[in-house]
Amino acid sequence: MPCPISDEEISKAKDRTHRKARMDQRTRERLPLPPVLIETVDRRRRTAAELLAAAEHTRPGDLIPDTAGTLRRAVAPKTAWHLTWAEETSTGRRRSLTFEETEAFWAFAAIEVLRLTGIRNEELLELTHHSITEYRLPSTGEVVPLLQVAPCQTDSERLLLVSQELADVLSTIIRRLRGGNGAIPLVASYDVHERVWNPPMPLLFQRDIGTEHRAFTPTALRKLLINALAVTCLTDAGGEPLVFFPYDFRRIFVTDAIMNGLPPHIAQVICGHRSLDTTMGYKAIYPAETIEAHRAFIARRRATRPSEEYRTPTEEEWDAFLAHFEKRKVSIGTCARAFSSPCVHEHACVRCSLLRPDPAQLGRLEEIRDNLIARMAEVEREGWLGEVEGVRVSLAGAEDKLAQITRRAASALVTLAMPTLRTEP
Ligand code: SF4
Repeated sequence: MPCPISDEEISKAKDRTHRKARMDQRTRERLPLPPVLIETVDRRRRTAAELLAAAEHTRPGDLIPDTAGTLRRAVAPKTAWHLTWAEETSTGRRRSLTFEETEAFWAFAAIEVLRLTGIRNEELLELTHHSITEYRLPSTGEVVPLLQVAPCQTDSERLLLVSQELADVLSTIIRRLRGGNGAIPLVASYDVHERVWNPPMPLLFQRDIGTEHRAFTPTALRKLLINALAVTCLTDAGGEPLVFFPYDFRRIFVTDAIMNGLPPHIAQVICGHRSLDTTMGYKAIYPAETIEAHRAFIARRRATRPSEEYRTPTEEEWDAFLAHFEKRKVSIGTCARAFSSPCVHEHACVRCSLLRPDPAQLGRLEEIRDNLIARMAEVEREGWLGEVEGVRVSLAGAEDKLAQITRRAASALVTLAMPTLRTEP
């Protein structure tokens, strides 16, 4: 009967395993890096904002304060009058400080929201001011902020609890976007997957291009991440500049959450996965994590077991342990019973299966066997039928021990098959 699993299916399973291993390795490589990344992008954002503010208070042609004479406020081109420009005094290269500040801010915002929520990049780009909502806990009456994530791949919306860190980032974004009337501009976005224009919404990820407000696109988001990574100078194992895709933050989020004790089924709900297998597929398991889990298991078991089982043995106990091995020596071999266990065969070692016969005692065993044969003849001759069975068992035991010695000796022999001289006929 042919195997129901086709070759194609087997190779796909192998491909899936290899892909999972590659993605896990990628996640493990990036898992320790977010603190460095966050610190760098936050510093970059603050520096760019301070430089822009300083340039805006400088007259065109003057040196910008706190730049050690390296930057001069430039006259803005007519086509870009709304931007603040600077010129490097050494090379004459022109830089748009407005563009640099915008890029630094949105790289910071995107990285923070991605790492704190674990949402997909298309979900990030669809976040609006209306996504921030609140919920009153029925038990305590406390009001907690929630982030409503629009339906995406699984076609079901979900709510995420907004942490203090995430609330800070969201309020920074909203403060930046609010216009003179306190409202966030409405912008239309293009859904690249559905290939439709969405109606104008107060999107949280939008920026000014010229005189327009435009939504970020997936490509623009990817460029933001690439440029932010370039500033950190982080490299991968091969020495190449490290690249983070939005999905890397999602994988890191799941791995980090589960490693810190979040139950996988809760992580599944937070990530919006239909199946728990998908969530666990995102999680990159560490060998170190396995070791830690095993150590934690031993610690837990020790905590629940009587403590005297884990104390250091006393001198007397240690001597008794060593003496056990000395006392195992008997006349025809070695007793192999476990430490602290009593002799269960009333020291009838010839009959006992725990005896390991000593080849050096072959003669003694043959003598015992011969005596037992003589004894058997005697009990049969005298009609001592009550002893026949006992002598027969002892005789079988003695022959078995002799056979063991013979077998061990035979297995230790190596026949070299010495050559012989052929004689002429
Ligand atoms: S009878 Fe068996 S268990 Fe007892 S001392 Fe002899 S070999 Fe050990």
